[in-house]
Amino acid sequence: MIWFTEYWTDNVGITFKVKEVKKIKSKYQEIAVLDTLEFGRMLVLDGLVQTTEKDEFIYHEMISHPALFLAKNPEKVLVIGGGDGGTIREVLKHPSVKEVHLCEIDEEVIFIAEKYFPSISFQLKNPKVKIFIEDGNDFLEENKNSYDVIIMDNSDPIGASEVLFKEEFYQKVKNALKKDGIMVAQTESPILQTKYFQNAVREIKKVFRNVGVYLAFIPTYPSGMWSFTIASENVDIFNLKDIDIKNLDLKYFNKEIFKSLYTLPTFVKNLI
Ligand code: SAM
Repeated sequence: MIWFTEYWTDNVGITFKVKEVKKIKSKYQEIAVLDTLEFGRMLVLDGLVQTTEKDEFIYHEMISHPALFLAKNPEKVLVIGGGDGGTIREVLKHPSVKEVHLCEIDEEVIFIAEKYFPSISFQLKNPKVKIFIEDGNDFLEENKNSYDVIIMDNSDPIGASEVLFKEEFYQKVKNALKKDGIMVAQTESPILQTKYFQNAVREIKKVFRNVGVYLAFIPTYPSGMWSFTIASENVDIFNLKDIDIKNLDLKYFNKEIFKSLYTLPTFVKNLI
């Protein structure tokens, strides 16, 4: 039996019992598919867990639906990163969405997701989806005033993702949004990656007038407590109206979570 450990910091990690491991090296990163006993198939990039069959719904629902409900009838959505397809799957649950662009730097992630994670990636072939194999940072420069919602579903702020957590980048995101556009980003663990979390929120606040932070519980991400930051220049993101989610087939997000979206523990409030 094989054991795989992801080191969350120098002092702490999480360990999974694994039946089988497949690894490939792409131009950008080492991609591994692990068959774990507890969490099903797991996608690992450069030693860091990206998604697992058992808990992926939490991350993908929570990165998508709050912003999509806040943007009234969004039609055009951009996902940066997210080559596994899980966020695209959630975005397409909203009937108003006519077009989704996916900007993923590493096409191998998409191939692997299509081959080994069909329950996550199946909507990548939907005719509403257009895939761009490009760095998100460059892509945004070519697309101004275009999107109702931009979702930053990228990996941690190291390597190719580092630039995606900087003020200059969020300015490009703002320029790529329509006037009433909304962006949301995964912003790391407040408890184990405190500096990255605080830094991402601070950089987003430099660019957007309205900024809110919310949390979800994701067992396979560092500490389990995960943050997302939502931002808009012109939409009042704190006006959380009643929403109707009954036809969306969701397992985590619901209208009560939406109503109390920005409820944070005191120590997290104090960090931002
Ligand atoms: N759920 C994940 C997490 O927080 O661990 C993120 C999942 S997704 C697989 C992350 C993707 O972002 C990877 O496939 C990676 O190739 C992509 N990525 C990293 N840097 C990027 C960049 N600069 N532009 C576009 N995609 C990028």
